[in-house]
Amino acid sequence: MKKSIYGLTIEQLTDFLIENGQKKYRAAQVWDWLYKKRVLSFDEMQNINQETIDVLNENFAIQTLEQNVKQVSQDGTVKFLFKMHDGNLIETVLMKFPYGHSVCVTTQVGCNIGCSFCASGLLRKNRDLDAGEIVGQIMKVQEHLDGKGEDERVSHIVVMGIGEPFDNYTNLMNFLHVVNDQKGLSIGARHITVSTSGLTEKIKDFADEKLQVNLAVSLHAPNNELRSSIMKINKAFPIEKLMDSINYYLEKTNRRITFEYILLRDVNDHVKEAEELGRLLADKRHLSYVNLIPYNPVDEHGQYQRSEPEAIKSFYEALRRKGINGGVRLENGTDIDAACGQLRSKQIKKTKKQPVGE
Ligand code: SAH
Ligand code: SF4
Repeated sequence: MKKSIYGLTIEQLTDFLIENGQKKYRAAQVWDWLYKKRVLSFDEMQNINQETIDVLNENFAIQTLEQNVKQVSQDGTVKFLFKMHDGNLIETVLMKFPYGHSVCVTTQVGCNIGCSFCASGLLRKNRDLDAGEIVGQIMKVQEHLDGKGEDERVSHIVVMGIGEPFDNYTNLMNFLHVVNDQKGLSIGARHITVSTSGLTEKIKDFADEKLQVNLAVSLHAPNNELRSSIMKINKAFPIEKLMDSINYYLEKTNRRITFEYILLRDVNDHVKEAEELGRLLADKRHLSYVNLIPYNPVDEHGQYQRSEPEAIKSFYEALRRKGINGGVRLENGTDIDAACGQLRSKQIKKTKKQPVGE
């Protein structure tokens, strides 16, 4: 099966063309057809010579994703389920905000991190997505917007779908370079956020990249005992190590970090945890923002419930008293299972075929 050409940066495409005896300047023309005119076959690229088109056809596909399900929520959120060439299903969510169209992309089929509250972690990682399959999600959503004929663009990206993006680092970086490139989709780096469960070495690598992409860290607890009990990855990368890598990131980039904190009723939502969180982030509070996330119940994780509204309010106020900036995440698409991994796991259960798992 041929890979998608969407996975190549323009530099990589240029190298490929040169190595295959084609003219270097064709790369910019091909990119224009791919990302500005958004054609879905090489044969439609009218100003490209036949020989180059033949070379492209022999080596690449354009879009390798196929739409399987599309659900539209009352608030305008659209959830897509895409089938990849090997039959694996992935999900992508489009959310409409006053500031633009934001897409949540998936980076892996399943996730090995196995956080105790997450639907994606229920399905062990089957494979990484390649860069073309990650870019392909953006292109599919853009195709949906183009189809509406209202000249709308994907303007923001959150890498918060299924999978741990830093466990698929090279493909993630290629994806970021492709969507950010001004010759292509030109989605501003400051409009892109990557969320990680806290792979500390990769946080440092990310700090060393010359990209202005935002980083979000899934913290969810202010101490090791509690964090290890809900996120087993904390045993390998405990809070001290995590904070070291975050300090490195802040020093290198001087960019604000978002800390994600899911509020689980009676687990991590007491004022004492808010105060502890405030102390943990005190020395970096000018570059911190805490995103409080109301838990989206997952059938298989019946031990967790969403926090009471009063608990959310008290938690938020306690954080503010400690001088920490934060907010409660607005919810999108709860009526269509738009939480992490939910549509996909339901769809798999419905078909009774489990295409993932070793
Ligand atoms: N693996 C990465 C990115 C994908 S998860 C990470 O963990 O950061 C994106 C966010 O959704 C994470 O903050 C994750 O903790 C959160 N999440 C997972 N399951 C959730 C649920 N049931 N309700 C609310 N948020 C959830
Ligand atoms: Fe994986 Fe993120 Fe879900 Fe944890 S929260 S299991 S890291 S997708």
